Amino acid sequence: MSKWDVSDINQWKSDQFPRGAVIPTGGNSDEYVTGGWRSERPYRDDDKCTQCLLCWVFCPDTSAMVKDQKVYDFDLEHCKGCGICAHECPADAIEMVPEGCELPGVK
Ligand code: SF4
Ligand code: SF4
Repeated sequence: MSKWDVSDINQWKSDQFPRGAVIPTGGNSDEYVTGGWRSERPYRDDDKCTQCLLCWVFCPDTSAMVKDQKVYDFDLEHCKGCGICAHECPADAIEMVPEGCELPGVK
């Protein structure tokens, strides 16, 4: 068995996983809730948002969700909370809020 043979990965015990990520196939992170790494989440103010879609362009995790050419939410199962969307938003419509805090304007 080669060092990188992961054909029986479904039977691995936790102590068999090497340090670091295990990526047996390209794009497989879509199958996991990788948003659990996040300490802050993006909050988008719909009143400020101009729907320029730059947050969708810049998000490295494809977590800005778009329908009918409009951003309507963030995929919090995969958003890592990096804050790039908030940094790049030209309308200052995205605020990064700590996980566990109430969202601005939401009671
Ligand atoms: S970058 Fe800002 S203004 Fe543009 S769509 Fe995203 S939230 Fe809206
Ligand atoms: S915080 Fe980072 S990962 Fe999350 S939506 Fe914004 S750019 Fe994407």
